[in-house]
Amino acid sequence: MVECAQEISSFNPVPTEYADFTVRRGDAVVDRRGRNSAVAGAVAVLGARGDVEVIPAYSARATSAGMLSRAGWRRLSGEVLDAVGEHARRVDGVYFSLHGAMGADGELDPEGALLEETCRLVGDGVPIVISLDLHGILTARMLRAIDGMAAYHTYPHVDFADTGARAARLLLWVLGRRRPPAMARVVIPALVRGDELITKSGCYGDVVREAQRLEREGRALAAAVLIGNPFTDVPELCSQTVVVAEDGEAAAAHAVRLAREFWAERFRMQAKLIPLDRAIAQARDMAGPVIFTDAADATSSGATGDSNVILHGLLRVGYDKPVLAPIVDPPAAAAAVRAGVGATITVRLGGARDPRFAPLEMTVEVDMLSRGRAVLETSRGALDAGPTAVLRTGCFTILAMSRPVSLFDRAMFLAHGRNPRDYHLTIVKSPYCEHHMFDAWAQKNFNIDAPGSTSADLRSLGHRVCRRPMFPLDEAVAFEPVPEVYRRAV
Ligand SMILES: [Zn+2]
Repeated sequence: MVECAQEISSFNPVPTEYADFTVRRGDAVVDRRGRNSAVAGAVAVLGARGDVEVIPAYSARATSAGMLSRAGWRRLSGEVLDAVGEHARRVDGVYFSLHGAMGADGELDPEGALLEETCRLVGDGVPIVISLDLHGILTARMLRAIDGMAAYHTYPHVDFADTGARAARLLLWVLGRRRPPAMARVVIPALVRGDELITKSGCYGDVVREAQRLEREGRALAAAVLIGNPFTDVPELCSQTVVVAEDGEAAAAHAVRLAREFWAERFRMQAKLIPLDRAIAQARDMAGPVIFTDAADATSSGATGDSNVILHGLLRVGYDKPVLAPIVDPPAAAAAVRAGVGATITVRLGGARDPRFAPLEMTVEVDMLSRGRAVLETSRGALDAGPTAVLRTGCFTILAMSRPVSLFDRAMFLAHGRNPRDYHLTIVKSPYCEHHMFDAWAQKNFNIDAPGSTSADLRSLGHRVCRRPMFPLDEAVAFEPVPEVYRRAV
């Protein structure tokens, strides 16, 4: 059992380093049993079998961020493969938990490189099954190295453990057969974003439910509709359907049908954004609470988290109702720590990491200091934002963190005693959150058109590496589904 997971935005100028990864070895890889994670889900299935011994080898996970540095990749990949190599000759199968949207300086298909080498180390005849985030980019090199895969079926993601469990059951299935299954996939030249991706309510969910139906009815061992992370600008970035089944022809037919259904909805699956000044003008007259979604600076998608664009817009018009705003700003947090609780300091907020944001000079009171620890509401995963300060000025409350952490739920706010329901306006640096967290009680959630390395306005980002033509980056993109079928040699 191995894990290596990160998601990057190629448009984030700050590289990820090895030190940004949380690395676990041996039993520590699975000590998160009971958590909602892919590894925990796989362990639950494999551990329930009396005849299976699980060997936890290695786990490395990092918050979404910029591309992994060359040195970082060299060390990380070396450690992953050393751990695989150590156990390679005594395992019957490999479960590899991946996100799928990594990118490294000098290696734009890190998962492919890891799987290819894992395949070589364990040798032919030892099955490898992976799990992926639905934002993962499954490449031809990955498909040539594996026997099967399972991917998330939910967005916002909640089925982490379920996905690991499906991957583990597939691995057991492969182990019990002589011939590996076929994996059919159809590459779709489209990148998608927007409300319709919410699987509970959007049209993307309709296609995903078809994939789930194939699994449920036993017509596929696994099926997935992967949309790639549109901010990971790598050669094989795309959307794709994948169907794993014994019969390659049947798998291909299902993959083609799912791909056609997905392609037909591509225009709906684009984000609708509202200009900031218009959103502010509307929000001012509302009873509230309102949410301003800053998806362009979503740390969970790989952005820096240091955009002050919305904050600046609100200050400029003298917004006079309570505002709660998160920002990643190591110098501001450090200045607050030096000054202490109760002190009044002048800080330059924003743009500490991404130079596209001009710092904003503000005089603030240090209301609270912390180590920046919180536990995610969804997965119970730990967050560590480093030294963190709650800063106040007028009706603005600003949570200044030293490190980017996932902000797709309310964990950081609540850990600092700030409940978004108590504010007229909360800035949320995530494209979507689970419904109950904000949308269930907010009067309106405005999806703000702001600059940033994870803007939902995909044409604004400047893709240079991914294959073209690609919808919506290019005009008049044509699509005729062509299934590719992979089956690992016995
Ligand atoms: Zn994802």
